[in-house]
Amino acid sequence: MSHDHHHGPTIDPERLAYYQRMATAVRELLIEKGILTDAQIVATIKKMEARGPALGARVVAHAWVDPNYKTRLLLDGSAGVEELGIPVDGTRLIVVENTEEVHNLVVCTLCSCYPRNILGLPPDWYKKAAYRARAVKEPRAVLAEFGTVLSDSVSIRVHDSTADMRYLVLPARPAGTEGWAEDKLAALVNRDSMIGVQAAKEPEQ
Ligand code: FE
Repeated sequence: MSHDHHHGPTIDPERLAYYQRMATAVRELLIEKGILTDAQIVATIKKMEARGPALGARVVAHAWVDPNYKTRLLLDGSAGVEELGIPVDGTRLIVVENTEEVHNLVVCTLCSCYPRNILGLPPDWYKKAAYRARAVKEPRAVLAEFGTVLSDSVSIRVHDSTADMRYLVLPARPAGTEGWAEDKLAALVNRDSMIGVQAAKEPEQ
């Protein structure tokens, strides 16, 4: 059957990779069979693209200003995230808090499991063998390479993600942010601070 009536750019099929061709075929079939509309597919793709560190930053900032929320979040990360209207993806989320005594670092030694529903796609270095192996063996050295030099009195806990268990680091709230609104606090929370390789940003003086 001809697909000439379809909209969008015309791409030479030979130039499309196998999975791209398969994705296109499935998409066209879903629409043709009336299972999904093109608009629904576009909306879903938009939703997936909206997943990114800004969601995790909202969670962190809310935990910083609301101690009761923080308690709930640390008890059940998935429920805590859902409470803010952020969809959970079926994996269990565990939130670990950085304190003056403990620094948490997240890795997936097997592959690249990552809390994608709140952080989006993992950075390239997270997927590299070097990080995956060294984060466990010499976390202090790895952290130093990210510019995070911890005093010897701080113990480091490394959390190994799995297919059904993901971790999010709750970084320590920077000093000098008392009374700040959540939006302003969230801007201090970047991706790396929620993986644990860095601290949250310090407020500008
Ligand atoms: Fe993995």
